[in-house]
Amino acid sequence: MTAAPTDRPALWRATVLTLFPEMFPGPLGISLAGRALASDLWALDARDIRASATDRHRSVDDTPAGGRPGMVLRADILAAAIDAAAVAPDRPRLLMSPRGRPLTQSRVVELARGPGPLIVCGRFEGVDQRVIDARGLEEVSIGDYVLSGGEIAAIALIDACVRLLPGVMGKEASGAEESFSEGLLEYPQYTRPQLFEGVPIPEILTSGDHAKVAAWRRAQAEALTWARRPDLWTARPGQKAPKSTTDG
Ligand code: SAM
Repeated sequence: MTAAPTDRPALWRATVLTLFPEMFPGPLGISLAGRALASDLWALDARDIRASATDRHRSVDDTPAGGRPGMVLRADILAAAIDAAAVAPDRPRLLMSPRGRPLTQSRVVELARGPGPLIVCGRFEGVDQRVIDARGLEEVSIGDYVLSGGEIAAIALIDACVRLLPGVMGKEASGAEESFSEGLLEYPQYTRPQLFEGVPIPEILTSGDHAKVAAWRRAQAEALTWARRPDLWTARPGQKAPKSTTDG
């Protein structure tokens, strides 16, 4: 018997391995992501690493080899938890880690297009290197600072992916002009009132001239990126200083 044809792609799913499954869905259960979760536009499994512990104290960590304060998540327990999750081989296996490659919007887009990741949340001093190697975990960082656990990082990553899934954002196009979508930061936004503490909305935005509005927004986005994020600016091939910063 062949499977019934369906227009709907398989559900995007995040499988999270954590010592604190009660932290999920957390903020992912409200607003855009929460409504989408309730409408089955994506799925979330938060699994307790401790369920794979074998001793009567359900221990998951031990002291670092070589000495140093703190504890390390054990390779055997974490490997058992990963194996028990039995995720399909085409799903990315991520480990949230300050040592990882910094998360970018282009990686988020890739992850949102795929079947959805398995995400391991570290705790304590981190995770035994052998399980990272043995289970091919891709280390992902959400910034150059240290959190006390991987859960908040995982929530940030999942939120960034979920809002890109088909049907989640109100308007399909609303992600197209956002920060990072073309290697640029977003232009400044304004809304009513027309006058706020004596400062009006830039006249061009209320002119009704769509071409001029688009050109103004582009110039603002370029000037902001050039001033605030030279790393993003120089990553765009053949970039000189933006026009608005060299005018006048
Ligand atoms: N000893 C580790 C180090 O110096 O790299 C830090 C461990 S941190 C206290 C515990 C866990 O929080 C990590 O294993 C990781 O899962 C998570 N974490 C902390 N900072 C993170 C970041 N910037 N991005 C992603 N995950 C992070």
